[in-house]
Amino acid sequence: MAPRASTRGSAAAPKRRARADAGLSIIVPVFNEAANLAALHERLLAAARKLKATRGLAVEIVYVDDGSSDQTLAIARKLPAKGADIQIVSLSRNFGKEAALMAGLDHARGPALLFMDGDGQHPPELIERLVKLWHADKNDVVFAVKAHRAGEPVLRRMAVRFFYRLLNFGARQTIPEDASDFRLLSPRAAAALKRMPERNRFFKGLSSWIGFRQAQVPYEPPTRAHGRSSWNLRALIGLSIEGLTAFSTTPLRIASLLGILLAASALLFGVWTLGETFIFGRDVPGYPSVIIGIMVIGGTQLVMIGVVGEYVAKILSELKARPVYFVAEHERRKAAE
Ligand code: UDP
Ligand code: MG
Repeated sequence: MAPRASTRGSAAAPKRRARADAGLSIIVPVFNEAANLAALHERLLAAARKLKATRGLAVEIVYVDDGSSDQTLAIARKLPAKGADIQIVSLSRNFGKEAALMAGLDHARGPALLFMDGDGQHPPELIERLVKLWHADKNDVVFAVKAHRAGEPVLRRMAVRFFYRLLNFGARQTIPEDASDFRLLSPRAAAALKRMPERNRFFKGLSSWIGFRQAQVPYEPPTRAHGRSSWNLRALIGLSIEGLTAFSTTPLRIASLLGILLAASALLFGVWTLGETFIFGRDVPGYPSVIIGIMVIGGTQLVMIGVVGEYVAKILSELKARPVYFVAEHERRKAAE
């Protein structure tokens, strides 16, 4: 599943730019979206026909079935290819959204790529605007940004803010808060994304790390039409750790900093204690301070070993170099009029 673009060298060659208008692949990961799929497909086809008519863009829709346990795959197989090529890539099990996005990236014939969710929360009607920002305004990475998080609990919003602060601390290329995975990549940006070799994927981070001209479009995510979000707290924490370990070494720096702080205060405390004993001849109450010291140092060390462990685990999984996903079935249908 190695990205094929790796031997092509610089993605920005002018010759490729000239062919850039040839087509757009829309990549949609779907996991148990049986209730949403048919309606979404209709809207996507409408958007595709419009792009063909107004901009001469041939559209391909790539559905990546991420090991759904419902009728998603059966429904996907029957979707009409009216006015757009269709690919259906069915993974051998549920690998998670990031893996499904990568499967789409590997199969899409592009050259431009558009990624969006299959639950209707990324309205296909917005595609037109994303395409305009690429096609007419020559942006390379165009992504939708949640206009607000008004409906979300305060605690969640605080956690999100904290996560992005940590992620972007001291970073050269920051990852915008509230950016969604609804994004369009120009041919050269898509080629760059294909050259990113890591297996632990954090799509948002990768597509902003590559640089080029980035543009945002604010949008109001509608609530899910059917089913429920597959992100529970555990999955979100997992993705956050993924993002942090892949894009930031700040947690490791915090470990070093805490170490220095603790050592410095221990030193000061030591000097103070010696002074108290020798100068003022006071008896220092030993037991409580020893226990507190041990607990503070022990606790901090355990937490920091955990932080280091997260990075080691990522190194291990990159080192094993397992494929990110396996394809069970794959079909491709040509557009019919
Ligand atoms: N998804 C996937 N594999 C998973 C979980 C989700 O392909 O293991 C897909 C899902 O079908 C949807 C998109 O990823 O198209 C976003 O999922 P969801 O709506 O659950 O996430 P949220 O909108 O809450 O971020
Ligand atoms: Mg959703």
